Amino acid sequence: MTKRYFYNISILFLFFLPALAIHQSAHAAFPVTERIPYSDFKKLIQEDKLEEVILDSLTIKGILKAEEWQKVKKSVTTVKVDDPDLIKELVAHNIKFSAAAPANGGWQQNLFLLWFIPMIIFLIMMTRLRRGATGAGLMSIGKSRANLYIDKDTGVTFDDVAGVDEAKEELKEVIDYLQNPQKYQRLGGKIPKGVLLVGPTGTGKTLLAKAVAGEAKVPFFSISGSGFVEMFVGVGAARVRDLFAQGQAKAPCIIFIDEIDAVGKVRAAAPISGGHEERENTLNQLLVEMDGFDTRKGVILMAATNRPEILDPALLRPGRFDRHILVDRPDIKGREEILKVHCKNVKLGKGVDIKIIAARTPGFVGADLANVVNEAALLAARVGNEAVGMDNFEEAINRGIAGLEKKKRVMSKKEQEIIAYHESGHALVAESVPGADKVHRISIIPRGIAALGYTLQLPTEDRYLLTRSELLDRLAVLLGGRVAEEIHFNEISTGAQNDLERATDIALSMVREYGMSEKMGPMTFQNGKKPQFWDIGFRTGRELSEEVSKEIDSEVKKIIFDTHVRVKDILAKNKDRLQIIAKLLMEKEVVEGDELRKIISENIPIQKKESPA
Ligand code: ADP
Ligand code: ZN
Repeated sequence: MTKRYFYNISILFLFFLPALAIHQSAHAAFPVTERIPYSDFKKLIQEDKLEEVILDSLTIKGILKAEEWQKVKKSVTTVKVDDPDLIKELVAHNIKFSAAAPANGGWQQNLFLLWFIPMIIFLIMMTRLRRGATGAGLMSIGKSRANLYIDKDTGVTFDDVAGVDEAKEELKEVIDYLQNPQKYQRLGGKIPKGVLLVGPTGTGKTLLAKAVAGEAKVPFFSISGSGFVEMFVGVGAARVRDLFAQGQAKAPCIIFIDEIDAVGKVRAAAPISGGHEERENTLNQLLVEMDGFDTRKGVILMAATNRPEILDPALLRPGRFDRHILVDRPDIKGREEILKVHCKNVKLGKGVDIKIIAARTPGFVGADLANVVNEAALLAARVGNEAVGMDNFEEAINRGIAGLEKKKRVMSKKEQEIIAYHESGHALVAESVPGADKVHRISIIPRGIAALGYTLQLPTEDRYLLTRSELLDRLAVLLGGRVAEEIHFNEISTGAQNDLERATDIALSMVREYGMSEKMGPMTFQNGKKPQFWDIGFRTGRELSEEVSKEIDSEVKKIIFDTHVRVKDILAKNKDRLQIIAKLLMEKEVVEGDELRKIISENIPIQKKESPA
């Protein structure tokens, strides 16, 4: 501990102090410049005191107007802040701006280099000292021994992973390929290079990847994305190279990258700090290796993330991670299966009913459930019981819930009921109007990858054009959730916010962009895009008079209100079905589209449906 502390302190002194000194002296050469905070800099812009602004990658220099010279110094500099509006403001205030010429290798920079080289040598020596004891020096950093984890035989099979049948089904092809690569090559078929497992933490993504390796009986290389991005410049890229080299040497095999978002975040347009650049070098190297390696050798890359939305699109392009598999939170049946897997080696008491445990644990993922079983076993052992009883499970579940409540992942019965009705409303409307996509699945599993519950609709065909009535039908589906809440509870919740936003967007586009409002006629009114700074002085779309804006608003309102009435009518007529579907949802958490359509077509009043209990 103290050694490490000393190390950090010395780095600070040796690395940053001289850097600061050099930086200061560089600025001392231009005594007319004053350093000011960014907020003051903005004030100068707003007060029209600047003549010209020069931007470079880290700082912004502002030349003051001549009349300001006596009061303040001739120019000011400030450290750049991520401020997308800056250019717009500069244009608005008519201030000249330009980028600084690329670094011209002035004396400051040479000095920097002169000091930098001995610094590097020193760092190498320090690292050797630190690592000497463990036998791994700086020279072997690129070998990625520290974080790379190799398993010749994971011993994990598909039987160990439960509640993710769809994902398993999709991965079977990968296993088959790893076992018989020749079979696929013979016909010239293309094998997926990269499979991306998407889902919340603890749902079994790593376990699934291991199971694929175990089923195919191939070695499993795994590394965590965060393991790539640390330490010195260039190490991440070297690790990637090394990982692929080792993988190819041991083919067929699986290379698994956990938390790929740590390396794979969208690359910034203009990197601000060095840390980003290092990560981006690593990502670029990963892309290069992915393009370079040959699946025919039997190397399959798998990766896991719980934040697919932040990944760089380049990673997801065909030929890279183009196969995506969702590993979402398990539903009640899935939880039951997972519990069974983990209870296999646990001695259960007589009264233990796994079904009840599954019903008591909505929102729990596989890792949480594994924990519950383990905790229950420990609790039973502590009091010297022969077998694990239901009371032990109850206590373990309560502890689990308390933990999840802290992370805000548990929802109350009432919330669950509201969401069930809300989603049933969407689904029922979707099945009742002709222009909406068919419902694929309704789910109320708490806090999955999709927010709260979701109703998944699949388009039946690829569409390029939408008619007015189809747009109105989509609008109706969006309002279906809110209206179901109104009808059943006589009360509305905040859960519909996103739906309403999207509904309003559709109605706005209908009036402003598609000319679909009778009153406004076939015209477009401003294309809705925010004007960009380069639009100034050009056409930014017509300026709308207040009167026209008002008319647009009232047309949008009319579309939404009319649809609201229509949806209310649909759901009021289907109140019984709404209840049947919502109750089924509460019971099973997931209802498939076919089941839904069966309920709708059966048209049975609710009293008869409820009898078996
Ligand atoms: P992730 O990679 O998605 O964060 P892990 O695969 O690391 O999740 O899961 C952690 C542990 O939780 C596993 O080792 C296993 O014991 C348990 N677990 C998670 N999901 C499942 C599942 N679907 N079936 C059985 N066990 C699971
Ligand atoms: Zn909704």
